[in-house]
Amino acid sequence: MELIEISEGKARVLVPKAERIYDAPVFYNPVMALNRDLSVLLLKVIEAKRVLDALSATGIRGIRYALETPATEVWMNDINPDAFELIIKNLGLNFSGKIEIHEKKAILKGNKVLVATNLDANRLMNEQFRYFDFIDLDPFGSPMEFLDSALRSVKRKGVLAITATDTAPLCGAHPKACLRKYNAVPIRGELCHEAGLRILIGTVARYVAKYDMGFEVLFAYYKDHYFRTFIRVKDGAKKGDETLEQLGYLYFDKRNGKFEIERSFLPSKPKAYGPLWLGELKNQEIVEKMHKLAEKEEIAEKKRVLKFLGIIKEELDVPFFYDTHALARRNNLEARKVAKIIEILEEKGYKATRTHFSPTALKTDAPFEEVLEALKSL
Ligand code: SAM
Repeated sequence: MELIEISEGKARVLVPKAERIYDAPVFYNPVMALNRDLSVLLLKVIEAKRVLDALSATGIRGIRYALETPATEVWMNDINPDAFELIIKNLGLNFSGKIEIHEKKAILKGNKVLVATNLDANRLMNEQFRYFDFIDLDPFGSPMEFLDSALRSVKRKGVLAITATDTAPLCGAHPKACLRKYNAVPIRGELCHEAGLRILIGTVARYVAKYDMGFEVLFAYYKDHYFRTFIRVKDGAKKGDETLEQLGYLYFDKRNGKFEIERSFLPSKPKAYGPLWLGELKNQEIVEKMHKLAEKEEIAEKKRVLKFLGIIKEELDVPFFYDTHALARRNNLEARKVAKIIEILEEKGYKATRTHFSPTALKTDAPFEEVLEALKSL
């Protein structure tokens, strides 16, 4: 395997040289630097100590967690033996000390304990029962096959970070795959990304509840064709009940773009999309702390991270939005600037903000008719 050295955040890492990322013997995607930056920032804020990068590939994520956050013990695992070898090389590049290498496990004990393993992630997580404060699931496609083991391996007040890159099922291009993987009906059109994120979290909610646990969403977003969510697990049947109470459905009128949501375990009407998570997508305090840290930290995609967190910090945390272009098209009107519509709604006393889901959309607590009226008045 031909390797080249790259740097990202505080890490220097050898990655395979390849024409296309999916042809490489070990996976490395530079576009995901922003995903890793945001994870580093969140991990710094929550100060998790024992961390697992369950699907680690080159080790870059775990190595960054060890170098850039207060984590004291970081495990990096991958089923691919080439990845395991590369993780060991990359540990040597970034940390001093002797690496003890066994058949499927390598350990470096210095200021921090660093562990590389070459196991099926499910096996590893099932063996390390209630062990980790933070588990990162960053798979190819859907994370669902790893979710149960992760919920057994995370401590009862720990945090799970979950990436899903299977946007085609979650956004309704492959609805049968969404039914199979997430047991949910997805929607196409302008709301598909937010609905996809809420389907992912809604499915996690149903998995969590069976362990008599619930969760709080610390931070969740859609970007660069992937979904990402960080949840803090909460112990107790009551927490599980409270989490399930945040599930519900979306109803959407294609003729005019009006949507309705319903909090309920079962839908009361036909043509419901979901089940979806209808609770919060962020913990405001955590997002603000991440934004502050991003200003001073040496991260890879500082400018993009600051811009992105800036939007999320201000974003009204209510389910769904109005895309001004789609709204105009559906109602035979001309598209208008989002900023103008926000201004009109605010003048009328409503809350209205931009949303990270779309640059042409707004979130508001105003009723549909008021948004349409604002668009018509311009
Ligand atoms: N987290 C990495 C990063 O930030 O660069 C990228 C991970 S890549 C998307 C997914 C990895 O999961 C691949 O390296 C693959 O070998 C590994 N993988 C797939 N199935 C696995 C399993 N059952 N157990 C452990 N690793 C697995």
